Amino acid sequence: MSWQFFDCERCFRRLTVAQLRRKEHEHTMAVIWRCDCGWTHADIFGIRSFEPRPGRCLQCGRPRENDHGCVDIAAMVEAHRDDSARTMSLVDEVNTYMRRGRVRLALDLIDVRLTQHPDDVDAWAIRGNAYCLLEYPSDGARSHLEAVRLAPDCPPFILMAAEALLVAGENEALMQLCETALARVSGEDRARLLHARAEALCEMHRGEEALADIDEALEDPAERPRRLYVRGRALGLVGRGDEAGPCFESILEIDPDNEDAKHGLAMLVEAKRAPTAKKPWWKIF
Ligand SMILES: [Zn+2]
Ligand SMILES: [Zn+2]
Repeated sequence: MSWQFFDCERCFRRLTVAQLRRKEHEHTMAVIWRCDCGWTHADIFGIRSFEPRPGRCLQCGRPRENDHGCVDIAAMVEAHRDDSARTMSLVDEVNTYMRRGRVRLALDLIDVRLTQHPDDVDAWAIRGNAYCLLEYPSDGARSHLEAVRLAPDCPPFILMAAEALLVAGENEALMQLCETALARVSGEDRARLLHARAEALCEMHRGEEALADIDEALEDPAERPRRLYVRGRALGLVGRGDEAGPCFESILEIDPDNEDAKHGLAMLVEAKRAPTAKKPWWKIF
């Protein structure tokens, strides 16, 4: 169950992690362990789809009664933690287990912590990052939003929540976050948040607003190629395709191999071929 290491069943040596695989359409992960001799072992386990809450069972999410039949996750975690890791910070201990393939132990360690200290804002952020890393951005976003709720003035939490929502395609939730959060960030943090919102607005076909956001974000020099790509997309959305071409070309001056820019230019060519298409120009494909 990824709480522990595994040994080879052929030569009894300790296995090392070869691969982490997310199973599609279900909250399940597989960690593939491998021995030098070629033996492999697939460790398959569920990913929690609910947030840890005090007094709730970590196995099933229901209130933890005296006669509760589920495994006591807190006791399991205590039994499997490394002595050498106990003095580490939570984030270091979690990273140590994640890196070595003991994903279940890492996730459970965070959740046990949160059932005991539900206001531990860093633990929520660590949880958010772990779920995003495992390609569950929607779950990651919920944890990051919890961190924002507890510490609304902390820009890193706001930005991590925004990135997770963007990756998860939860554009409406990202709009909601920005409504209150934009006033709480400045400088390059504000540019990053505006950039994220502009990407979401493009997805929602709201070109004018996307253009306003990305133009402000471009005043900050970071991530210029990607921001120029978003600008090109927004220009196309508001019917200014003639300006989108030079915008994509300016990316290639900075980075000749940029895939976004090549993609943007290809989309423009395609859009010109089908001028009467009712769909927005980048949706022609
Ligand atoms: Zn072996
Ligand atoms: Zn239970």
